[in-house]
Amino acid sequence: MAGVCERESNEMSEIDRDQYLIEREPYYRPVQNEVAMYRAAYEARMPVMLKGPTGCGKTRFVEYMAWTLGKPLITVACNEDMTASDLVGRFLLDINGTKWQDGPLTVAARIGAICYLDEVVEARQDTTVVIHPLTDHRRNLPLEKKGELVQAHPDFQIVISYNPGYQSLMKDLKQSTKQRFGALDFDYPTAEIEAEIVAHEGGVDKATAEKLVQIAHRSRNLKGHGLDEGMSTRLLVYAAQLISKGVDPQSAARMALVCPLTDDPDMRDTLDAAVNTYF
Ligand code: ADP
Repeated sequence: MAGVCERESNEMSEIDRDQYLIEREPYYRPVQNEVAMYRAAYEARMPVMLKGPTGCGKTRFVEYMAWTLGKPLITVACNEDMTASDLVGRFLLDINGTKWQDGPLTVAARIGAICYLDEVVEARQDTTVVIHPLTDHRRNLPLEKKGELVQAHPDFQIVISYNPGYQSLMKDLKQSTKQRFGALDFDYPTAEIEAEIVAHEGGVDKATAEKLVQIAHRSRNLKGHGLDEGMSTRLLVYAAQLISKGVDPQSAARMALVCPLTDDPDMRDTLDAAVNTYF
């Protein structure tokens, strides 16, 4: 384009790496040996897949590990409208002409961040393949539109999350993508540990947290019998937070546990009955 001045204003020197550092230690209650396993995987710069249902602690775990390792963390919530350019970057028009804007994956590769692609299966497959060269010995990212090959910083690592419950034949990661990652299985922790988490995060006493966990167990038994998913740890924390603000437990449970999960009146009655058993 005539008269257009192309500026490269988003090069590495201008990226403030510190903004992606996690300042305070995130509360994370280890469940198994995931901390040691992740640490070893990071030392090998192995791409890691965190598998498990929604709200069971995957994101919190990555935040905790990034903090522990002292590395910046860039999180991308993937969705079906996401294109490869949303990850990699694009040319933008401004009053001075066009300028290249790095996408989050490119920024992470340049500064040596941990790049966490949350629910990557939501993204279209042509989007997913852009991560391939970053996940093998090449460790590079071609910016085709810009004509640049970004060599990943030695500290760069890619982490994806994946909820096996949601996958169908239509929507699943390709084997060629899956087989580039080491995987850690996540699930809701044992009742004792989950109650500890809910008490800590929700600011309620242990007895109340234990009741909330029991209600969640009832709902998780209904998975596949009218419910797609049981109540997540995240929802239990929400209910606990409402209770700690003075809301009565039944109303808190209805707002945080029952209503988000289902619109089916019979199923709501069933869940309400579970709540009433404990509160
Ligand atoms: P996911 O990424 O699996 O959807 P999150 O990491 O966002 O879930 O977890 C949801 C919430 O549950 C967190 O904000 C945190 O309060 C709580 N939580 C779940 N598991 C743990 C854990 N092991 N340690 C600390 N908090 C946890």
